[in-house]
Amino acid sequence: MTTVTVWNEFRHERESDTVAEVYPDGIHATVAEALESHGFDTRTATLDEPEHGLTDGVLDDTDVLTWWGHAAHDEVAEEIVERVHERVLDGMGLIVMHSAHYSKIFRKLMGTTCSLKWREAAETERLWTVEPGHPIADGIDEYIEVPEAEMYGERFDIPAPDTLVFASWFEGGEVFRSGCCYRRGSGRVFYFRPGHETYPVYHDDAVQRVLANAAAWATLDEGPTPDFGNHDPIEDIDTDDERSVH
Ligand code: ZN
Repeated sequence: MTTVTVWNEFRHERESDTVAEVYPDGIHATVAEALESHGFDTRTATLDEPEHGLTDGVLDDTDVLTWWGHAAHDEVAEEIVERVHERVLDGMGLIVMHSAHYSKIFRKLMGTTCSLKWREAAETERLWTVEPGHPIADGIDEYIEVPEAEMYGERFDIPAPDTLVFASWFEGGEVFRSGCCYRRGSGRVFYFRPGHETYPVYHDDAVQRVLANAAAWATLDEGPTPDFGNHDPIEDIDTDDERSVH
C-alpha cells in the first residue's frame, strides 16, 4: 500500500481561533483523513516535532510527502530540506500545497524565486482542467469552483511545468498555473494551489480527489533505475582515445 506522510507547519491552527474553527485538528489531519478515505496509508508530521517529524526512519517508509507551510518556512532546518531533497531525487513523490510555493524545499527543487501575486478577498476561483486525460484530473469535471479563495496571480516565477493540469481564473481578473507537474531526478513533484488556512478548501471533495490522484501519480514507476557514470560500449568499438585526459 502507498504510504503518504502529510507534513504541516501547524502554527496558524494553534494560534488563531478563526483558523482552528476551519481546521480544528490542523490542516494535516483533514488532508490525512481525506487521503485515508481514498485508500492511502497516512501519517502526519509537523514542524515542531524533533527533526520536524521527518526522520530517516519516517522517510524510509514514505512513498509520497505532502507539504503545507506558510508563516515559518525559515524555521525549517537546512539539514531536513537537504534530506527531503535527496529523497525526492531518489524517487519519493512530493505534493506542494498552496503557500508552500515559498517553502525551502520547493524553491530548491525549482531553482527560482517561486514568487507570485496574491490578494485575500474571499473571491471565487475556477480551476480549469486543461489536461483532462491526465491521471491527476481523473474524475474531475471541466472545472472545480472554489467559492472563497485567496487569489494567486501570474506571473508565478517557476520553471515551465512538464505538464500543466489546472489553470485558475479568479473573480478579480487574474489567472494562475494551479496544477503543475515536474520530474526531478527519479521523483515526481506536483504543485497544487488551493488551500488557504482561513477557507475550508481542503474539505472540498474535488480538491481532496485531486490530492489523492496526485499521490497515486507521484508513485508511478519511472522504469529501470538509471545507470550513471563511465560505461563500456554495447557495440564493439575502439575505446582507446588518446585525447582523453581522464
Ligand atoms: Zn494563503
